Amino acid sequence: MSGLLPDIRIVRPSDVAAAIAAREQHPQSRFIAGGTDLLVNMRHGLIAPQSLIDISRIDELTTIEMGAAGLRVGSGVTVAALARHPAIARDYRAISQAANAIAGPGHRAMGTVGGNLCLDTRCLFYNQSEWWRQANGFCLKRDGEICHVAPQGKRCHAAFTGDLAPAFLALGAEVEIAGKQGRRRIPLGDIYVEDGLAHLAIAEDDLIVAVHLPPTAAASAYAKVRLRGAVDYPLAGVAVALGVRGDSVASIRIALTGTNSRPFVLGGTDALIGRPLSERSLQQIEQLVQKQARPMRTTIASAHYRRLAAAASARRITAALYAEQSG
Ligand SMILES: Cc1cc2nc3c(=O)[nH]c(=O)nc-3n(C[C@H](O)[C@H](O)[C@H](O)COP(=O)(O)OP(=O)(O)OC[C@H]3O[C@@H](n4cnc5c(N)ncnc54)[C@H](O)[C@@H]3O)c2cc1C
Ligand code: SF4
Repeated sequence: MSGLLPDIRIVRPSDVAAAIAAREQHPQSRFIAGGTDLLVNMRHGLIAPQSLIDISRIDELTTIEMGAAGLRVGSGVTVAALARHPAIARDYRAISQAANAIAGPGHRAMGTVGGNLCLDTRCLFYNQSEWWRQANGFCLKRDGEICHVAPQGKRCHAAFTGDLAPAFLALGAEVEIAGKQGRRRIPLGDIYVEDGLAHLAIAEDDLIVAVHLPPTAAASAYAKVRLRGAVDYPLAGVAVALGVRGDSVASIRIALTGTNSRPFVLGGTDALIGRPLSERSLQQIEQLVQKQARPMRTTIASAHYRRLAAAASARRITAALYAEQSG
C-alpha cells in the first residue's frame, strides 16, 4: 500500500514515563516527533507501525539549557530552534552550521534533534516507493534477499545521513536515554553500530530525552557535501572541534556522517596534539579519513568521490579553524 497511510492509532503522552509505558503497551508502535523521516518511510511502505506514540507534547523534551555545566538540548527541540540559538552559534558553531544545513525551512520547523539522531539509514535502492522497489526485486534491508550494492555479501551498507550527529560527536556529546530500566547517560557514539539494517544500538522502546555537551574551549565547524545546494542529505558531512594553545594543537576531534552506516569519530587524530598543525598533519588527516570512511554505491555520486570529498572537507575545516585561533 505504497503512498497511502493506513488507519493508525495515535497516543499522545504528556510526560516521559507515560511515553515509555505507551510504547510498551503497543508493541507494534514507533515514537514520532516531527514525523519528517518516519512519515515518508511509512508512505514508502518501508515501515508499518500500527500505533504512533507522539512525543511532541512532552514539555521536558523541548528545552535548551546552557550554563557552567555545558549545554543540554532536549530531544524534542526543533532543528530550527537549534539553528537560530545565538549562544549555540557562538560556543558550539558546528551544531548551528549542521542544523542550518538540514533539509528546508519547513522540515527544520518540524524536525527535531531526537528524530535527527535516530534517522533511518538511506540508500538509493531503499528510499523509493514500494512499486519501484518491487520492480527491482526489493533488497536485503526490506522484503528482499540480496543487496544490490554488494550482492556477494550478506549485510546492508545503507548510509547514516543525519547532519547533527557528527557535530555533537566532535564536541563530545552524551545522550540521556529513558527506558524500562530508568534513565542513563552514555556517550552519543555508543548508540550507533556499523550495520545499515540495524544501526541503532538502543532498545526499540528507549527514548532519547536530551543531548548533553561539556563546556568547550575548542572552536568547531561543520561542512556538508551534497548534490544540490538546497534541500539534500549529505553525501559526506564532516565536523571538526579544534583547540589551539599558543601555536600547538591542544585538542582535536573529527567526526563524519554520510559515508558509513553510522556517524563516527575519526580515530588516530591524537597523534596531532602537542605540535603546530603542519602540512604533514593535514595530509595525515586526509589519510585517516580515506582509510576510515567506507562509502558504498548507495547514492548516485560515486563512493570514490564521497571518500575524497570527506577527506578534503576534513582538511579544509581543520586548517581554517587552526588559522582562526593561531593567527
Ligand atoms: C526532503 C527531505 C530532506 C531532508 N534532508 C535532510 C538533511 O539534509 N539532513 C538531515 O539530517 N535530515 C534530513 N531530512 C530528515 C529529517 O527532516 C530530519 O532528520 C529531522 O531532524 C528528523 O526529525 P523528526 O523529528 O522529523 O523525526 P521523526 O520522523 O519523527 O523520527 C525519525 C526516527 O526517530 C525516532 N525518534 C524520534 N524522536 C526520538 C526520540 N526522542 N527517541 C528515540 N527515537 C526517536 C522515530 O521513531 C523515527 O524512527 C530530510 C527529510 C526530508 C523529507
Ligand atoms: S545497501 Fe543493499 S541491502 Fe542496504 S538498502 Fe542498499 S541495496 Fe538494500
